[in-house]
Amino acid sequence: MGAAGNEEGRIDAVIVGGGIGGSALATVLARNGLVVTVLEQQRTYADRVRGEYMAAWGVEIAQRLGLFDALNQAGGSMPRWAVQYDELMPPQVAEQHKIDLDNMVPGVGGALCLSHPVACETLANEAIAAGATMLRGVENVRIQTGSEPAVTYRLNGEDSTIRCRLIVGADGRNSSVRQQAGIELRQEEVTNVVSGLLVKDAPEWPQDTFALGSESDVMYFVFPQGDDRVRMYICGTPDQRDRFAGPDGTTRFLESFRLKSMPLGDHLAAATPIGPCATLGGEDTWTESPYAEGVVLIGDAAGYNGPIIGQGLSLALRDAELVSKALLENSNWSRSIFAAYGEDRAERMRRVRFTAAMHAALFCSFTPEGVQRRGSFLGRLAEGQDQSLMWQLIEPVIGPYNLPPEAFDQSYRERLLGTQEPQSVAS
Ligand SMILES: Cc1cc2nc3c(=O)[nH]c(=O)nc-3n(C[C@H](O)[C@H](O)[C@H](O)COP(=O)(O)OP(=O)(O)OC[C@H]3O[C@@H](n4cnc5c(N)ncnc54)[C@H](O)[C@@H]3O)c2cc1C
Repeated sequence: MGAAGNEEGRIDAVIVGGGIGGSALATVLARNGLVVTVLEQQRTYADRVRGEYMAAWGVEIAQRLGLFDALNQAGGSMPRWAVQYDELMPPQVAEQHKIDLDNMVPGVGGALCLSHPVACETLANEAIAAGATMLRGVENVRIQTGSEPAVTYRLNGEDSTIRCRLIVGADGRNSSVRQQAGIELRQEEVTNVVSGLLVKDAPEWPQDTFALGSESDVMYFVFPQGDDRVRMYICGTPDQRDRFAGPDGTTRFLESFRLKSMPLGDHLAAATPIGPCATLGGEDTWTESPYAEGVVLIGDAAGYNGPIIGQGLSLALRDAELVSKALLENSNWSRSIFAAYGEDRAERMRRVRFTAAMHAALFCSFTPEGVQRRGSFLGRLAEGQDQSLMWQLIEPVIGPYNLPPEAFDQSYRERLLGTQEPQSVAS
């Protein structure tokens, strides 16, 4: 055996993937006395261009799981304000309507913006401190599901097998555990692609504010990351997948931030890249049932939301919360204990899928009809007669649980995408 077992010499859970979801779950289980081994392929967590904005509802879960303090102390920043810029309105108008995130989720002061590798490292250290075994540099993970789960892996050229009560697939969007368990990944049509870059030397960007906006053929995001660092993302249409490819890709990405719709675009364009510039699909995926006998999937492995609304970190933490609850409340770990998790996840993913699709249609569609739709939405929002239009803007902050079911139904879709003439948003 490659890792220490409990008093019966048996590992309770082998978690494949020590990212956000895997290490969060490992920490909670180990703190509650379970014997956990995490198999992580990366020896050092690298910038793979993943989520670095944790929504307020995710922060609340991190607080409940006892993970927030460690994450908060790891650096990054906690912006209180969100500004939605747009080429259809002057920047000052957008700033007048900035959203105050403080206490939008009770007890939460804002969003947590933290480097993804730092967040992974922090959570991995929490898991180790709680008593979990963390094996890094693991390759060739093979699983056996069913009533006698087992995991075989290679580490430093040596193959080992662990028998356990449960395998957790927390190995991200391209999950090998999901594929080996035969759990099908369902996928919506791709409506956008997302490119990201971490920069430093951007001291003028206010650390208490994150921003997003639409201009020309891009939807952009700016998340402060502490000190003079900023994480920038660009969403474009699927045909733009290679827009930032090649040796000059990073330069072209930065140049895309010379925007008129927001201040400091030139400042950001002149910042210094400190990570890769990568483009990933903005597709929405899900699994009908994120578990089978002997195995459960969490986080992106169980199906992932389009990054356009930045919910993946929070979703992964919620998965860790629900799966840990099922495991700690039951002594017999048959697949039936995950029924509540599966139901919650199905509805949660349906809701975030809805919001992501509406966001893409409203803010990442650059045809004349798309711009007209956006103008109509922003105009009606400014008029203030239909307060429910705000739901679409605050869902990415307060999450899928804190809005009424009507925020995710057909009639709301029709209201959001209504065909009224575009209106001026000048004041
Ligand atoms: C461009 C982009 C921008 C995003 N922006 C946001 C955002 O702003 N906010 C937000 O909340 N979410 C965002 N997300 C989504 C977010 O990054 C993910 O949903 C989140 O990281 C999921 O956590 P996870 O633990 O499931 O997966 P990950 O964080 O990807 O961790 C998976 C871990 O498994 C390991 N692993 C993979 N395969 C194996 C294997 N075979 N064996 C062992 N280990 C393995 C990996 O090395 C990794 O450490 C974004 C995603 C993308 C692509």
